[in-house]
Amino acid sequence: MDYNKYIEIVDDWPKEGISFKDITPLMSDGDAFRAAVDDIVEFAKEKEVDVIVGPEARGFIIGCPVSYALGRGFVPVRKKGKLPREVIQVNYGLEYGENVLAIHKDAIKSGQRVLITDDLLATGGTIEATIKLVEELGGVVAGCAFLIELSYLNGIDKLEGYEVLSLITY
Ligand code: 5GP
Repeated sequence: MDYNKYIEIVDDWPKEGISFKDITPLMSDGDAFRAAVDDIVEFAKEKEVDVIVGPEARGFIIGCPVSYALGRGFVPVRKKGKLPREVIQVNYGLEYGENVLAIHKDAIKSGQRVLITDDLLATGGTIEATIKLVEELGGVVAGCAFLIELSYLNGIDKLEGYEVLSLITY
């Protein structure tokens, strides 16, 4: 499916100079959203994943339906202070700002094959931090799946050696 027409580009949001890719039109179209999720499910099947991990908040939107379709668990990666039990955490740089991401310490079993999902790959800071968390817990990153990759920000350079699926590239 040609997903491009379901993405709205919002210039100078949330800051001047940022060209924000709004995925909500894709999400609100049942056929397009299902097709996008199905494409990621196929990728996940090929990679034989045991569990899906997604960073807050749009990584949940993509990861949870994939998790449901596969009958595999979903593990949230959240911003500092949001998870109630013992966590490990990592600092990371964002396209606009800095942040801390955390995962429950017991969320991944050593050797589990993990699919990481997010809506968009920009500078790669978020995915790099999420990979660090998964690998620190002994998970094996079997693949990373995005709706959108902003190739001009070169986030893919941080994913050398990993299997990556991007449904739309700008
Ligand atoms: P990165 O860490 O790769 O620089 O930025 C990716 C993260 O920021 C993703 O979690 C994504 O949700 C968010 N993000 C950055 N830019 C955009 C954008 O243009 N559109 C959307 N939907 N999310 C963005």
